[in-house]
Amino acid sequence: MTTVLEMGQHILDLCAEHKIYISWCPRPSQASGSLDDRAIDIAPTKSPISYACALHEIGHVLDRHQKSNDFMVCERGAWRWAKANALAWTPAMDRLVAKCLAGHAAGELRRRQDRERSRARWRRMKPKMIASLEEGSVYHIRRPGDPVVCHAEELALKLDAFVYTDRSGVWIYPHNYDETDAQ
Ligand SMILES: [Zn+2]
Repeated sequence: MTTVLEMGQHILDLCAEHKIYISWCPRPSQASGSLDDRAIDIAPTKSPISYACALHEIGHVLDRHQKSNDFMVCERGAWRWAKANALAWTPAMDRLVAKCLAGHAAGELRRRQDRERSRARWRRMKPKMIASLEEGSVYHIRRPGDPVVCHAEELALKLDAFVYTDRSGVWIYPHNYDETDAQ
């Protein structure tokens, strides 16, 4: 039977062996690992669960799939590494893995849906924006009291967008606009 003390020592040994920098956070749920910095931020090993989480963060540094652009490939890889390198692995740890992966998958889906909604919104808005620019009603350098700028702001209000003004003119963007949406 592996003790919690041995588990804690194992984490320290692994980090020393692989030259991984450790910083400490209060709870396992706040832990993170960085491949680029060869650093992990982990909670002290007080239970098999915090041990599994610490191994998982080391996995984010040492597992060979961590250069993948697919977030879920990295997460699954880090857990596989944790399980393969643990001194002991329990059913509670398996349940932790399932819970974490399910949470990440749900988060990924939500983020993807948000991105798609934002793009769809941008596609809908873009023709309106260009049309109003072509009318010449908003394409002006802003001056105090310039009534033309009001049109842009009214339009933005109607579209639930924001107005950005610089020397080249007035631009209307969706609230959650990011550069990649325009491509
Ligand atoms: Zn992770």
